[in-house]
Amino acid sequence: MSLFRAGIPALLLGASLVLAAPIAAQAAPAAPAAARVHVEKQPKPPTTEELTKDQGSYLALVSRDHPLDPVNYKPKDLRGVAGSGHELRKDAATALESLLKGARKDSQSLAVLSAYRSYDRQLSLFNGYKARYGIEYATRLSAPAGTSEHQIGLAADIGLSSGHCNLKACFGDTAGGKWLAANAADFGFIVRYPADGEKVTGYKYEPWHLRYIGVDQAKAMAKSKAGTFEAFHAALVKASKVKPLTAAEIKKQRESLLVLRFLPPYRDWSIGYDFAR
Ligand SMILES: [Zn+2]
Repeated sequence: MSLFRAGIPALLLGASLVLAAPIAAQAAPAAPAAARVHVEKQPKPPTTEELTKDQGSYLALVSRDHPLDPVNYKPKDLRGVAGSGHELRKDAATALESLLKGARKDSQSLAVLSAYRSYDRQLSLFNGYKARYGIEYATRLSAPAGTSEHQIGLAADIGLSSGHCNLKACFGDTAGGKWLAANAADFGFIVRYPADGEKVTGYKYEPWHLRYIGVDQAKAMAKSKAGTFEAFHAALVKASKVKPLTAAEIKKQRESLLVLRFLPPYRDWSIGYDFAR
């Protein structure tokens, strides 16, 4: 018995060493350790699914052309933005609180005028504009219910505490509006409807409307000079698509399959295992 006991682990160890060698040789060229560490430090690139199907994604594109489904969609993690009487999704609320604090530090007194709006609230707001201005102008000013970023809890309208130029284009020329445009990305927000973006976004200039997309992506968008979220989003979708393998990659894959053929037959290994039992 003792001879068997001593012999069996040695036999198994021998088999595992033989198996381990070609597997290690296969794995090594695909992902060198240094490259892997570098990649892990980068923000995780969004998948096509997250960008185009997930309404809970911080990068979800919601507009008249991309309505919510169901139209009365409500995010799950809403919470109050401290001192504002308005709600946003948890991370966006924390980010907005930091932004307001940052503005105060720079002597800008900003206030939250609106943030999360339910389907019903958006419906009555849009109908109000429609009654006042007619459908065409109302559509340039406000989103029909089910197509508003306010409904996903990631958008906030910001104004001056003084009320001067609130929800007017002239807000962009105030010190507070300029501070917002210059600093929003540091907190994960973008000015969603820029002055020259109406053709793409479908909305007039709204220097007060912020959209939360996360710090990494907001900074990436500023750097990309995409101009509008629509353009930035389209570029992200393009980059996220699974690309077909190149000829070199196919060759490499074939070679690694050839290595598998030279592995010792598993049958031999299992004979030893049966014997051990
Ligand atoms: Zn807004």
